[in-house]
Amino acid sequence: MAALAQNETRSTCCYCGVGCGVIIEGDGQQVTGVRGDPDHPANFGRLCSKGSTLALTMQPGAMSARALYPEMRMSRDQPRQRASWDATLDHLARIFADTIEKHGPDSVGFYVSGQLLTEDYYVFNKLAKGLIGTNNIDTNSRLCMSSAVTGYQATLGVDAPPCSYEDIDQAQCLFIAGSNTAWAHPVLFRRIEAARERNPNLKMIVVDPRRTETARAADLHLSILPGTDVALFHAMLHVMLWEAWIDRDYIAAHTEGFDLLRTLAREYSPQAAAEICGIKADDIITAARWFATAGPTLSLYCQGLNQSTSGTAKNASLINLHLATGQIGKPGAGPFSLTGQPNAMGGREVGGLATTLAAHRDFANPEHRAEMMRLWGVDRISSERGKTAVEMFDAVKRGDIKLLWIACTNPAQSMPDLANIRTALEAAEMVVLQEAYANTETAEFADVLLPATSWGEKEGTVTNSERRISRVRAALPGPGEARHDWQSVCEFARRLEQRLRPARESLFNFETAEAVWNEHRAVTAGRDLDISGMSWAMLESAGPQQWPLPADATSGQARLYADGRFPTASGKAKFLAAPYKPVAEKADARHPIRLTTGRLRDQWHALSRTGTVARLFGHAPEPALAMNPGDLARRGLADGDLVSVQSKRGALHIRVEADDSIRSGQASLPMHWGARYLGGQHSFGVNTLTTPAFDSLSRQPELKHAAVRVDAAALPWRLVAFVALPPGELVALHDALRALQVGIAWLSAVPMGRGTDRRDTGLLVRAAHAGAPAAEWVDRLDRLLDLAGADVIRYDDTRRGSARRLRIADNHLIAARLSGGVDAVVSAEWLRDWMLSGRDVTTIRRLLLAPGAAAPAGFVPAGRMLCNCFGVSEEAVRASLAAAMGDAGQRLAATQATLKCGTHCGSCLPEMRGMAKSCEAAPSASTQLVEAA
Ligand code: SF4
Repeated sequence: MAALAQNETRSTCCYCGVGCGVIIEGDGQQVTGVRGDPDHPANFGRLCSKGSTLALTMQPGAMSARALYPEMRMSRDQPRQRASWDATLDHLARIFADTIEKHGPDSVGFYVSGQLLTEDYYVFNKLAKGLIGTNNIDTNSRLCMSSAVTGYQATLGVDAPPCSYEDIDQAQCLFIAGSNTAWAHPVLFRRIEAARERNPNLKMIVVDPRRTETARAADLHLSILPGTDVALFHAMLHVMLWEAWIDRDYIAAHTEGFDLLRTLAREYSPQAAAEICGIKADDIITAARWFATAGPTLSLYCQGLNQSTSGTAKNASLINLHLATGQIGKPGAGPFSLTGQPNAMGGREVGGLATTLAAHRDFANPEHRAEMMRLWGVDRISSERGKTAVEMFDAVKRGDIKLLWIACTNPAQSMPDLANIRTALEAAEMVVLQEAYANTETAEFADVLLPATSWGEKEGTVTNSERRISRVRAALPGPGEARHDWQSVCEFARRLEQRLRPARESLFNFETAEAVWNEHRAVTAGRDLDISGMSWAMLESAGPQQWPLPADATSGQARLYADGRFPTASGKAKFLAAPYKPVAEKADARHPIRLTTGRLRDQWHALSRTGTVARLFGHAPEPALAMNPGDLARRGLADGDLVSVQSKRGALHIRVEADDSIRSGQASLPMHWGARYLGGQHSFGVNTLTTPAFDSLSRQPELKHAAVRVDAAALPWRLVAFVALPPGELVALHDALRALQVGIAWLSAVPMGRGTDRRDTGLLVRAAHAGAPAAEWVDRLDRLLDLAGADVIRYDDTRRGSARRLRIADNHLIAARLSGGVDAVVSAEWLRDWMLSGRDVTTIRRLLLAPGAAAPAGFVPAGRMLCNCFGVSEEAVRASLAAAMGDAGQRLAATQATLKCGTHCGSCLPEMRGMAKSCEAAPSASTQLVEAA
């Protein structure tokens, strides 16, 4: 690996499961830049829009969101107070010991995260299962990949993705199901684009209810109805059987259970499945033909298969197709589950789930328990399955789990049915939150806050989707008194040991993260994921390695099952014959719309980190419900209208946007918006609506589907306010606005950012209410936005009930608040754009106070940003493509040359390619280029 300059540190991106290598640049005091590591085999130097802005999450303004000191409160009606680490950990050890003694080990629970490092995960698991003796440790990975785990276990024997990223380069057919790879795993999608450029015969099939950016790029898009994947996969097998496209020799030699599956598949003719899935039978036949005959087929799949009450069946039915065609264990072939989180895989390896033991062991197996008791030196490991995520919060609500320790995750934003989760958090006798960020939705409920170090500050390892273990390295110390997660756990565990097993040697005498990892490594010896031949020295000298890498090996294994032997009792893979079952919640007359959830290109999970970077809001500037334009028209709704969305569990208000990528009868919401961004009375963000119904095997909830109704919001009073701010002040003001969630029906507060000019950042606030809210509420908002001073321009129309406040400095608009009826706020849209464009107000002075004034002629709002690296708007790209000559490729190249968009991280390329294709057919226009940003 190439040598680095002084003050440069090799590490791994902390966002998605692609696991890109990064080089952190610093000046010893601060992170000054992040670039892709050209030597890392996951990304070869590429980074997406999220990875390439990591340095911005370490700037002083972003750091104001961080937890710095331990805090405790002794009663719920008191705020938490700063405390010392010793006092806090002593207090926790005493309460945990007393509770365990009084109510048993299962009276406590741990809810951890796929964003923890393997070392953190390992000690949490050992604490719960080894020291305390409870399997009540689960993780937010339950929400994203536990169906992939059970799918692999049910068919291939163990939880091991058999493929590698290099298989993309060797495949002849890519079958992408339930994954918007272009947005959720962007660097992997760059690799797919490159493979298709090299090999024009490479077929790409995408299965997704939505015409996502990934689906737009496909040769065949199967726009199935939500949750019908199993019927599709069985129908594809039906066609393969009929056409004799299956590999009978492979099935006979390496699998078992095919007869049962064949009988089941006979029921799923392409015509029958076409009815269920809402697609054409011919398309199913084409998909089956390409999958079975095009050459090696690689499946890539993610939350669309996993977040389902049929998650295990969906995963296994797709794996069935690979086994039936012998498309596994060969270059370019296999079922490849993509992990959402950076270390969901590491969590699986250490057994950090309520349903597994360390190193892919099974706590229901007495031999496995005995082995772990010996390895850990403990007397007992529970044989009872622990409470999984949904069950854990239900147990907290019932009072069965009294103390809940949450680490590095934000369940008050990310769990389904948030009203229920909030009730559970309120019911807990104690909530401990071990977190890097003090401003998450869950932090409100924490009785004890333990500040944690985060990316750029931690040492350890993570495992990406392709089983590759990479080092995570610290470039800076953590802020304040933040400690590494594994250290805090060990400090607590040693105190707890003094009460639970006094006078015995500690199980947690680890001095370094490497020492923790070495124990984990020893625990894997002899298992399918054996890494006993790996070391941190090897990772240092030879770079990231894939498992298994046993003691006698010198490098990791890129592909599993090449010899056709599987880690099952018989050595054969098993077909799982599971019939199609519909989603848990059918649409009906009361809730006629099928709601799906998804990811945005530039945001990550609950926005704790990406939410600190204004630029990352440029592409999808505010919460919106995407719906088919026909469905909007039938409801008398227009793009941008405020709607009420209601499920059986709760309701929220949100703006609606017309989106023809969505089929009629469906709607889509990004998963990211929590109460901090999309709130108001009784609304806690997107997961106010989602269902906790879960798969009976994987226990993963069906976050991808809920039945809802959508109506025009009956909230005639509206407010739009915005303020330009230096990036360093955004987080603090955004947090302060949370106090305004009370007393208003709808409140949306979102940072604004426009590319590279750091002066064009700010905050956008929207609110609505049944009538004018209390004057005191509006006054508080004005004070927070600095719209209450003597220099503020005021306009009040008491007859109409409308008002305006404008702050102007140096002839530039700095902040504004427009409120009253719907008509009173319409000009806020272009005024906000005017402010962000940096123009002075000389030419619009007479419009500033005119209710309903239209934008001056010739002013084209920049709209959303397509390219965040260079601050290029969608409008600018569209105009440039239209003005260029030639085919789509030539227009794209000309636009990239002119505007530079898509020449850095490339995250905007899939969208730009789609736009170039759609204007290829149109005659070249002499449209004037709109000024970028
Ligand atoms: Fe990070 Fe993007 Fe790479 Fe994922 S694809 S690891 S978010 S840089």
